[in-house]
Amino acid sequence: TYDGPPLRVAIMGLGSYGSRVAEAMQACKKAKIVGVISGTPSKISTWQSKYNIPAKNCYNYENFDDIKNNPDIDAVYVITPNALHRDQVIRVAKAGKHVICEKPMGLNAKECEEMIDACKKANVKLLVGYRMHFEPNTVEIINQRSRGEFGRILSFEGGTGFPIGDPTQWRLNKALAGGGSLMDVGIYAVNGARYMVGQEPVWVTAQETKTNPAKFKEGVDETIQFQLGFPNGAIASCVTSYNISLDRFVLNGDKGFAELRPAFGYGPIKARTNKGELSFPHVMHQTTQMDEMAGIILGNNKPVFPVDGEEGLKDLKVIDAIYLAVKTGKKVPL
Ligand code: NDP
Repeated sequence: TYDGPPLRVAIMGLGSYGSRVAEAMQACKKAKIVGVISGTPSKISTWQSKYNIPAKNCYNYENFDDIKNNPDIDAVYVITPNALHRDQVIRVAKAGKHVICEKPMGLNAKECEEMIDACKKANVKLLVGYRMHFEPNTVEIINQRSRGEFGRILSFEGGTGFPIGDPTQWRLNKALAGGGSLMDVGIYAVNGARYMVGQEPVWVTAQETKTNPAKFKEGVDETIQFQLGFPNGAIASCVTSYNISLDRFVLNGDKGFAELRPAFGYGPIKARTNKGELSFPHVMHQTTQMDEMAGIILGNNKPVFPVDGEEGLKDLKVIDAIYLAVKTGKKVPL
């Protein structure tokens, strides 16, 4: 465990998820909010009084490069629309601060590679906001699978979806979201398939279904079904949707199974295996995540399943392949 000074974090993008992270961080022991970066002055003043943030730690999107001269901020947590992540992460890296970036890390694998390179050059750490990698039920299932408790892994099923509301939101705007449900929640099934199976996929097939083209415009996927093949012959079969409520992972091996349902929502996560239910007490995911990330950034701790830029890149490589498979109708090797 890490027991040095707390990680001093500035949050960039004071939207709905940024607000959730900030609330959850109030219970953190190793991380604290010390700054904000926002395009909305009224939010800055609300956050300043709510979280006791000094004016010298407040920035906007024009001037946040100046953060390089601020010794009181260790890391910036980028929680803005997907299409902005690449440039913002690179600017934070150039300012010499560690970066935590929300999922999806970038719009595609190429962007992720550029982000990784920039952080390497600047000698700062880059983490992706994969909160499930710290969720105790999920971690326990990953550990049981690594110990071989489910035997040889044969298959994974993943469902991630919700009926999305407001048609004018950025999530339904290709330019800001980079896609549709796959970019937003399908990434949990891609990531989940990888940590549940414990291998990297070697091929992808995928099909798209669109029932409402007026709401889900060109380039914004409503529902995608995709299949992944793994080196040992295991297969994953997943559905991601902006139309169907789905929140379930199932792992099958020749000696047992694990089910997470819900699997990726804010919780409580429920897990059971062929041996019975797991019963970890619910903790806010973002509280655990930020405490653990403090240890990773400042204490060089290693999580059970990685959350670094390379991990974000692996998911975007699979996502690129899924979009290509939808477009071509062909099996795409990875
Ligand atoms: P919101 O729309 O609620 O907030 C995004 C914020 O980004 C805005 O409030 C705004 O903050 C800032 N922003 C900067 N430029 C723009 C722009 N051009 N359009 C809109 N907003 C802009 O989105 P979410 O908080 O739901 O999502 C943000 C990111 O977090 C996404 O990448 C998403 O995938 C991820 N996320 C992750 C979750 C998880 O569980 N890990 C859950 C939910 C989201 P300001 O006014 O301060 O500038």
